[in-house]
Amino acid sequence: MSFRVLVVLFFLIIGFVSSFSYTIYLSKTTVEIIGDVIFVRVESGNFTNMFIRTSFNTNILFPFYYLSGSSVSIIPIPFGVVSKNITIEILTNGKVMYVDTLKLKVPKEKPKKVVKLNLSSESRSIITNVERILRDREYIFKKISSINNYYFQGSFPRFSLPSTNRITSGFGIARRYSDGRVRYHNGIDFSALPDDNVYSVGDGIVIISGNFLANGQSIYIYHGYGIISSYFHLAEIFVKEGDFVRRGDIIGKIGGTGIVTAPHLHLGMYVWGIGGYVAVNPLNLIYLDVKNQDFISQLSNKKISDKF
Ligand SMILES: [Zn+2]
Repeated sequence: MSFRVLVVLFFLIIGFVSSFSYTIYLSKTTVEIIGDVIFVRVESGNFTNMFIRTSFNTNILFPFYYLSGSSVSIIPIPFGVVSKNITIEILTNGKVMYVDTLKLKVPKEKPKKVVKLNLSSESRSIITNVERILRDREYIFKKISSINNYYFQGSFPRFSLPSTNRITSGFGIARRYSDGRVRYHNGIDFSALPDDNVYSVGDGIVIISGNFLANGQSIYIYHGYGIISSYFHLAEIFVKEGDFVRRGDIIGKIGGTGIVTAPHLHLGMYVWGIGGYVAVNPLNLIYLDVKNQDFISQLSNKKISDKF
C-alpha cells in the first residue's frame, strides 16, 4: 500500500471516529467559593456548533472554544447558588445531544453582615437616574453581545492582578445602599494608594472605553474564551475601543468617578455567552494555573460520559 493511500485511510478512520465518539470531562463538581467556574471539555467535539445550557441560566448559551484538540466551555456559577442538583445540557446544531444532572456542592456561606454604604449626596442623586443607568446597561450589553468569538484561539489566557494595592472588598459581599436596596458585590475592589496604575489582567482587545453614570470611567477587555474583564471608577483611561493590550499593560489610573464612597479600582470579570454574561470571582481566574499541558489535565478531573 502506498504511503498516500495509508494517509487517506488514516484520515478516513480519524474522521469516522471523531464524528461518532465524544468524551466529556468536567474540571470539578465541587464549587469552592461563590463565583467559581467549571470547565467542560469535550474530546473530539465540533466546537462551532456546540453550546452548553445550564439550569442556572437557561436564557444563556455558553459556546465552546477550540483548545489543544478539544472543545472547551466555561460554566460560571452565579451568586445565590446553594448545594443542589444542576442540569447541564450540551446542544449541537440546536438539538439537545447530552443531558446530565450534577450534584453541585457549594460550601455553606456564613450569613454575612450587610455592609452599609454611605454615599455622597451627589452619588445619591446619580443612583436615582434610573433611565440613564438603564441606557448605559443596554449600551454595554449590546457591545458585549457583539463580541467576535473567534478573535482568540490558541493557548488559554493567563491572568494577573490589575493593581499591586490592597484588596479592600471581596466578591459577593452584600451591601446596603442609601436607597435601601441590598446589592451583591460582583467584583473585587483595590485601594487607590500607593500605586494608582491600572494594569490589564490579561492579553485582550478593548471592547468598551467610556464614561458611564454609575461606574464612572470604565474599560472592558475581551480575553477570548468568553472571558471579559472590566475596570471601573478610573481617573484616566489610556486605551480606546479596538486596541489590543498585553497582560500587565498600564491601561488607566485609579480614580473615584461614578458612584463611590472613596477612590478605588473595581475589577469585574465575566463569562460571556449568547444571551448574557455572568459575573464570576476574578480571583478564581487570576489564580488559575494555566501552564498549558497541566491545564488540559486539570480539565480532565472527572469523566462524565464516553459518548453522546
Ligand atoms: Zn467594587
